[in-house]
Amino acid sequence: MKVEHIGIAVEELESSNRLFEKLLGFPPYKEESVDSEGVITSFFKLGDSKLELLQATHADSPIAKFLNKRKEGIHHVAFEVEDISSEIIRLEKEGFKLITPTPKRGADNKLVVFLHPGTTNGVLVELCQEIKETTENDKENRNQ
Ligand code: ZN
Repeated sequence: MKVEHIGIAVEELESSNRLFEKLLGFPPYKEESVDSEGVITSFFKLGDSKLELLQATHADSPIAKFLNKRKEGIHHVAFEVEDISSEIIRLEKEGFKLITPTPKRGADNKLVVFLHPGTTNGVLVELCQEIKETTENDKENRNQ
């Protein structure tokens, strides 16, 4: 595992992009909206890790709810895993709760799942796994 990125909830992406560009000395390398999560995101590369800025696109977005309760700030820490399905099984056995039962497609070509902060000392933890093109063989192996 490594820290793949840190997610920061922001009210307004464009001004936050400029702020972090000033702070880091370089611009974000991409912006991407994730409709399933109701967010638009931008990414700054930081060596092996990234910063992800997240702005809500509608009032029901998890980011809008977070901003209402907690204001802007660190929203989640994302750990990269090799095999998200086996990690989910391992962590559920250890007593961690998932926010959604199965991984979803997130930003930046990842499968993602979130652990409930009630079971992780108040920290919203994202697990992410790079999406690799799968062959028919892979699919069969997974179904066994
Ligand atoms: Zn994230």
